Amino acid sequence: MRGAIRIATLRGIPIRVHYSFLLVLPFLAWLFGLTLASGFGAERLRGHPLVWGVGLVACLFLSVLVHELAHSVYALRKGGQVSDITLLMIGGVSRITRMPEGARHEALMALAGPATSLVLGVLLMVGSVPLARAGAADVSFAVAYLGGLNVFLGLFNLLPAFPMDGGRVLRALLTGWLGRVRATQTAAFVGKGFALLFGLVGLFGLPGLWPAGNPILILIAVFVFMGAAGESREVLMQSLLSGLRVRELMTPRTSAVGAEDSVEEVDARLRAERRRALPVVEDGRVVGLVTRMAVRRVPEPRRAQVRAREVAQPVPELTPEASAWDALREMGQRQLPQLPVVQEGLLVGTLTQEDLVRGMQLRELEENRRDGPWGVGPRESHP
Ligand SMILES: [Zn+2]
Repeated sequence: MRGAIRIATLRGIPIRVHYSFLLVLPFLAWLFGLTLASGFGAERLRGHPLVWGVGLVACLFLSVLVHELAHSVYALRKGGQVSDITLLMIGGVSRITRMPEGARHEALMALAGPATSLVLGVLLMVGSVPLARAGAADVSFAVAYLGGLNVFLGLFNLLPAFPMDGGRVLRALLTGWLGRVRATQTAAFVGKGFALLFGLVGLFGLPGLWPAGNPILILIAVFVFMGAAGESREVLMQSLLSGLRVRELMTPRTSAVGAEDSVEEVDARLRAERRRALPVVEDGRVVGLVTRMAVRRVPEPRRAQVRAREVAQPVPELTPEASAWDALREMGQRQLPQLPVVQEGLLVGTLTQEDLVRGMQLRELEENRRDGPWGVGPRESHP
């Protein structure tokens, strides 16, 4: 996830914090300090309310981490893989690269976080009672407050606002019935509805219940909306492309430029062949890809001197047997419009974004035809 910094690594899983979380921390510290001062009484607190606020924020931060670790531990136990954990304001995102098999495990994995938060919340609330009797009334109040925050964290995440945990449970429940793609689309639709609702309540408040102008709720609305849209698109593409090989979509017999060719020559070839990029070959082997963008970055008077190899971008080794979904992810990560396809070191074709889009469109047509004109009917799920 972009906009996040790494703070720790646990069992090889990088843990990152999103900037938005860091930005709201001072606001939360102030808010918690204020709540403690007004709820408990500033004069009875030992120390400045803001110090208590900062302490509570640090504990909330740990609570969110525990919530996320619960998801990850469940995923790892059931044979999944977790690539990283990003802490957001409320809950976080555990990027599970390999899901435990089956919708039941997916639902349980989603439930593990809120369940942990709820248990932690109740334990803190119960634990605050003896603290009060021991004469540490201010600590007791803060611990009970933290317990309340954890309960809120658990309950809020259970709302069926995909991609929040409750939304993931909803998707898992729908998967057996609608198939993974439609289940995700339906859950994402509900999630966007919730995002709109959060946004409206954040802006205008609920009369008599919630004050208007809540920046945290507005931020959550934006996250849920973008997350729902992004993940639904991704699942759709994944389902359409999974099972397709690069060989089936690539353009065979592609041309290439030599590593020693000048950028001027490359530019002429790109224009003449109407290509967005060309593979660069040296001694018969692919050494990179030169794009129109890279050519444009070289000032015109210098294009005759600069060699193709100097502006070529490195490319991953993509074979005809590689999965089309992996190829799309590589293109996205490297922001390349196409990738050369290589077999035993030799260039055998190129795979462009257009090839992938066409492949997806054909798959979609086939799937719709199979479902009949109304696009309904039972579907196999795509795990
Ligand atoms: Zn969660």
